[in-house]
Amino acid sequence: MSESGTNPQREALLGELAGRVGDERVLEAIAAVPREAFVPEDVRGEAWGNHPLPIGHGQTISQPLIVARMCELLELRGDERVLDVGTGRGYHAAVLARLAAEVVSIERDATLSSHARDALAAAGVANVTLVVGDGWEGHPPRAPYDAVNVAAAAPDVPPALTEQLADGGRLIIPTGGRRQWLVRVRRRGDTLERSRLDEVRFVPLVAGASNDAT
Ligand code: SAH
Repeated sequence: MSESGTNPQREALLGELAGRVGDERVLEAIAAVPREAFVPEDVRGEAWGNHPLPIGHGQTISQPLIVARMCELLELRGDERVLDVGTGRGYHAAVLARLAAEVVSIERDATLSSHARDALAAAGVANVTLVVGDGWEGHPPRAPYDAVNVAAAAPDVPPALTEQLADGGRLIIPTGGRRQWLVRVRRRGDTLERSRLDEVRFVPLVAGASNDAT
C-alpha cells in the first residue's frame, strides 16, 4: 500500500481522469483515497486500473471514472451531509467523505459493511457513519441530505430517497434494467428536476434488507 505514490497504474489512471473530469476537488479525492485498501486482497494489484473489480458476495466496485463522474454530478463543496446507498467495501463512501462534511452509508449485507468499517479505519476516514439496512428506504433519522449517491441500479428512483433530499439537494442513481442510465434529480422546493445522463452498468439495488445468510 505504501507504494501508491510510485505505482504506474495509479499515475496512468489519474492522467486519464484529468482529461475527463473537470472538478479539481474530485480529482484530488480520487488521488488521495488508497483504493487498494478497499478491494479484496486477491485483486489488490489491479486496484488502480480503470475498470470495475469484484468485491465479494457477487458485488462489484465501479470503475474509478464512474465514481469520479458521479461525485462530480453531486456538485459537492465541502459542507454537505451525504447519504451513500450501497456501501460495498466503502471506496465510494471514502471518496465522498473527502468532498463533503459527513457521509451516512447504508449497506444491506452486514459482512460487506464490516469490511468497509475495517477499510475506512485503515485509510483514516473518520466522517463516515455505516448503517446496515435497506437503502430503498434511505435513512430517515439523519435526513435531510444535501446529496444522495446510489451505487446500485433500480428500475426507477426510490421515492423515499427524494423525500429525504434537502431543498437544493442532488441525487444520482443508475436506473433501468438491461440498459441503464445515470439519472440526476435536483430538488427545488416541492419540485424534482430530473435529467438522464451517461449510459452505465451497475449491479441491481436489491429489495429488502438482507438476512446476511452468505
Ligand atoms: N459503493 C461500493 C460498491 C457498490 S456495489 C464500493 O465503493 O465498494 C452495490 C452495493 O449495493 C452492494 O454492496 C450491495 O450489497 C448493495 N445493495 C444492494 N441492494 C441494496 C439495498 N437495498 N440496500 C442497501 N444496499 C444494497
